[in-house]
Amino acid sequence: MNIHEYQTKELLRGYGVPVPEGRVAHNVDNAATVADELGGERWVVKAQIHAGGRGKGGGVKVASSLDEVRHFADQMIGSHLVTPQTGPEGRLVQRVLVEQASNIRQEYYLGLVIDRATQRITVIASASGGMNIEEVAKTDPDRVIREAIDPAVGLMSFQCRKIAANIGLQGRQIGEAAKLMKALYRCFRDKDALLAEINPLAEVEDGSLIALDAKMSFDGNALYRRPQITELRDFDEEDPKEVEATGHGLNYIALDGNVGCIVNGAGLAMATMDAISFHNGKPANFLDVGGGASPEKVGNAFRIVLQDPNVKIILVNIFAGINRCDWIAEGLVQAMRDQQIDVPIVVRLAGTNVEKGGPILAESGFPFIMADNLDDAATKVMATLEASA
Ligand code: ADP
Ligand code: MG
Repeated sequence: MNIHEYQTKELLRGYGVPVPEGRVAHNVDNAATVADELGGERWVVKAQIHAGGRGKGGGVKVASSLDEVRHFADQMIGSHLVTPQTGPEGRLVQRVLVEQASNIRQEYYLGLVIDRATQRITVIASASGGMNIEEVAKTDPDRVIREAIDPAVGLMSFQCRKIAANIGLQGRQIGEAAKLMKALYRCFRDKDALLAEINPLAEVEDGSLIALDAKMSFDGNALYRRPQITELRDFDEEDPKEVEATGHGLNYIALDGNVGCIVNGAGLAMATMDAISFHNGKPANFLDVGGGASPEKVGNAFRIVLQDPNVKIILVNIFAGINRCDWIAEGLVQAMRDQQIDVPIVVRLAGTNVEKGGPILAESGFPFIMADNLDDAATKVMATLEASA
């Protein structure tokens, strides 16, 4: 789960990470008031969306008067901001962060990720932070340094000093950076984060360090024990189909293909997507209807999958253990009756009560395309798509 920059900064401030003074604003008047209350002569107006690259897309502007703050806030709020990370349709900006502008001497990069290969939280740092870090990582990977953290002892001071020195920090900055890294690490551990990124970590006029941009994302499976983080969830930033699916107890992730998948069990869902890909198809989604898939749940699964206009065919792949194939078959028939489903449906049923499920589908009169196994199902999906193309 991702959160906004202003939320991340509040969270990190609580851990002792230096961040600019600032507040979120939902409208133009609000933005001007925030700037006025912050005082000073220059402010930064920053569009709050769950995507980076805002600087490049015009979503980060420096204002030198309250009128300019108003002007930029007016431009951003309600607009669809397009950045290198949003796709061409952009993201609707519903609020801006107004904060004091810093005079930047140099921009560093500091991040924490979970490195799946070493199974460790790993610090990533670079002297070449700022808006082109992705470019640097590609063309000049040696300028990005990594340091894995041993979970038994946590992030050690010597590691922090080493990282700080390696990115060219000097004197008292090294101690400051070490404090900051440890604070970031504590927050990361405490909140079950998957990613924390400060880019840029800026060196300002007086040589001190400050986090000018901050991004964190959290493990969705740990949210049940992190109510403070769960509260920060912004449903407007998520795919409405995914939000609806969560409400129905379905595990749904939207993808960009055209084969809708309705499957029970996450592992089987992955295997189904693999089988489709193996046959040169593209899954439109991952969907796990879970163990006790009632006809109602199956109906909801169809409704959500069919909200995606790219879906041209649906593959239902059920391996019934706890589930029973006859329940699933009844759910399928019910969905066909209740909803206007005009895409072909390939069904593969196996497991408990399969001998009852097949006849229910056959006797329903609906044109289900039956498959014997996963490979057969994927083959039939592709053949049907080709025939209708
Ligand atoms: P993004 O990563 O989405 O482009 P950032 O918050 O990193 O957005 O802002 C882009 C650039 O704007 C930064 O690299 C920095 O140079 C500048 N910037 C951001 N916040 C401030 C600030 N408070 N004061 C001065 N410059 C800032
Ligand atoms: Mg940034």
